[in-house]
Formats: sequence, C-alpha cells, structure tokens
Amino acid sequence: MKRLLQNGLVLNLSPPSVAVADISIADGTIEAVGPDLDADGCDEITDLAGKWVMPGLCCAHTHLYSALACGMPGPTAPVSSFANMLEQVWWRLDKALDDQGVEASALVGGVAALRAGVTTLVDHHASPNAIAGSLERIDGALDVVGLRRILCYEVSDRDGPERALAGVDAHRALLERGATQSTAVMVGAHANFTLSDETLRACARLATDTGVGLHIHVAEARDDREAVGESLIARMARLGALRPGSLLAHCVHLDDDEIARIADAGAWVSHQPRSNMNNAVGYAPVASFGERTMLGTDGIGADMFAELQTAWFKAQEQGVPWSPDRWLASLTSSYEFCGQQLGVKIGRIEAGAKADLIVLAPCPGPPLRAENLAAAMIFRLGAGQVRHAMVDGEWRLWAGDPLGIDTIELDRTAQAAAEGLWSRM
Ligand SMILES: [Zn+2]
Repeated sequence: MKRLLQNGLVLNLSPPSVAVADISIADGTIEAVGPDLDADGCDEITDLAGKWVMPGLCCAHTHLYSALACGMPGPTAPVSSFANMLEQVWWRLDKALDDQGVEASALVGGVAALRAGVTTLVDHHASPNAIAGSLERIDGALDVVGLRRILCYEVSDRDGPERALAGVDAHRALLERGATQSTAVMVGAHANFTLSDETLRACARLATDTGVGLHIHVAEARDDREAVGESLIARMARLGALRPGSLLAHCVHLDDDEIARIADAGAWVSHQPRSNMNNAVGYAPVASFGERTMLGTDGIGADMFAELQTAWFKAQEQGVPWSPDRWLASLTSSYEFCGQQLGVKIGRIEAGAKADLIVLAPCPGPPLRAENLAAAMIFRLGAGQVRHAMVDGEWRLWAGDPLGIDTIELDRTAQAAAEGLWSRM
C-alpha cells in the first residue's frame, strides 16, 4: 500500500522543524518527505493543505486498567496516606477486574489515547483476580485500536505469594514470543514497599534472562521508602533490579545521589505531574532528572498535551529552570525509549521512520516556527485539535472516530463492564 499525504504543515518535534511538505508512505514506512512528491503509483492521495502533521505521541507510563474508574465508589473513610488511598481506592478497583473488565478498560483507554494523538502506550497492568492471560487480552484490544504498546503486569506481594508468582508468570508467553514492532513486554513490578526481596529478585531474574527492563513505581510517595527502610535505589541494585532500559515511574522522593545512580545504570525515569498533584504526594526533583526523563499520565487519560502543559506550569511554580525546549525534550525522549523496546524508528516525519503520525486542525494565530514550536506545544496546541491518526502507515483515526471500532457498541459494553466492576468493589 502506497500513500501520499500532500501539502500538510509538517511539525517535527525532535529537533523542532516546521515546513509545508508532502509525505510518501509505503508498507508502513515513510519513504520521502519534501515538496511536490511524485503521485505516480500511489494507491491513496490525501490533501492535507492547511492541516498540521506531527509524529504520534507516546505516553511513557499509564494504567489502562483504570479506564473505567471515573464514577466508581470512592474511599469509605478519610484517606490517611498514599498507601491508605491505594488500599481504599485503587487496589479495590484492580481486585474487582475480571477478564471482560480488563478487555473493556484496554479498549476504552486505547480509544481515548488515539483520540488524544497518542500512537504508543507504555502500560502497567494489575488485575489480581484475573492475572493469567491479562497481557494477551490487553495486547489484543490495543491491536484492534491500532496502537503500539509496551506491556507489563505489576507484580506485587500485596495479595499473597501465589498471586505474586502468577504475576511473574503472566509475562512469560509474550516474552517468549519476543518483541514485535507492535508489542514489546517489560517485566512489571508494583513498588518496593509491596515487594519482598525474593519477589523483586524473581522479577529482576526474569528481566535479566529475557534481556528486558523492569517497569516499576519508585518513591511515588514517602510511604515507599519508609516501609522498606533503606534506599530504594540501593535495594534495587542489591537485588539486580536496577537494569539498563528499565523504567522507574515517579521518583518523587529520591535524593540527587539516587537519581545519579539511575542514570548511571542506563535506566529511565517517567514524570507524571498531574497524578502527583492529584495524589498530593509531593513534587519530583525534576531539575536533577537527566536526559532519560519521559512524561506519562499514570492512568489520568492519555492527553500528553495536557500532561506537558501541567508539567510546565508546575515547574514554573516550583522555580525549576527548565525551558520549553527542555520540557519538549522530556515529551519526545519517549520516542527513543519506545523505539528501542519495539525495534522501530518512531518520532520523526522523515524518510526511514515508521509512519506513526497525527493530523491536527490548524489553530489560527501567529507564525509557527521551529524556534517557537516548544512554546506552542505548551501554550497553543491541544488534543482537541487531533483529527486523524496513522499508525504503521494505516489510518486508525479519521475525523475523530477510531476506524474499525463501533464506538456506540463499545460504549454499551464499557458501561456494562463498569457497572459490574463498581458493584464488585
Ligand atoms: Zn503508575
């Protein structure tokens, strides 16, 4: 299949560039970008004059399992700490998930991500009463939506040793299959404070044996370190869990030495400012975070424009000296991370890269230029402008609607799944 997109304003984010150009695409890969490309032999020609085209976005840390959470029963008593909030809210939700709930959550969350211009998701999944086959179920749902995905199951001892072991085992079939260009698997672990030495070591061993990284929450709240009683990073290193290519979500309560150690290990950090504010866990020491820093939503939808904007405002309030360019780099660094996991080149509209791109309705205003694109991403652009999305050279969203998915039927299924979920909670 050969496609030609004509006359769009191409916005590359990393490094920033702005130019009207045609884009030719064959078999999922961008063949050429430039003016007046030859339309001969193209199966489909799309005129994007006046539209803006940019690489599809990545969300570096999310929880699709929470996609049916809005409207669920709240805490039954005043929340006394972050750990208590997990017990009263989130662990009640994940325990109530059954196979249908897992699948419906992934479909609903996947469609929301696509509509927000996200074409690659890094998911961290938990469903302690529906563990076996859960990653395959999410993989299948995201295949229907058409997103690239990096999956894991969040192993934890919080529901006993059997479920911890089942969580480790949940990764095996997909790890044996190996990464495809659509799906990669990391080894998931919840957080140090719900993992015994033995269980965290088992996660690290599986990751080492299969050559993948760990995906784990680290120091999201003070409870994590306080419950463990030693430096979380020292502990992870001691247990073989501080591996290159690993993803440490949050890192709110770490000191500079610990953050340096993460960088030295070749691991990545994801920052989720909206979630951190929502949970009142404190502000991450982002000024100390290195180049391998990414942005995620932590399950608060998948709107990366909103996440970037909040990251900026919160940092301004806190006096963090990061420029708009530095913040844009934290959004686009996930192209390198996700590309490495999946074995594909994504995040650039240029010859040789995968055709993962989004088309936005223009936002009339001052000239858009390479030198003001970072500021525009924070102050001007938004998910509401996303009209079309293409993944691997195939249109997956057109005029705001996901292709191949009956959203009315999905809404019916999701409502029924949510009612069941909430009643079990
Ligand atoms: Zn999380």
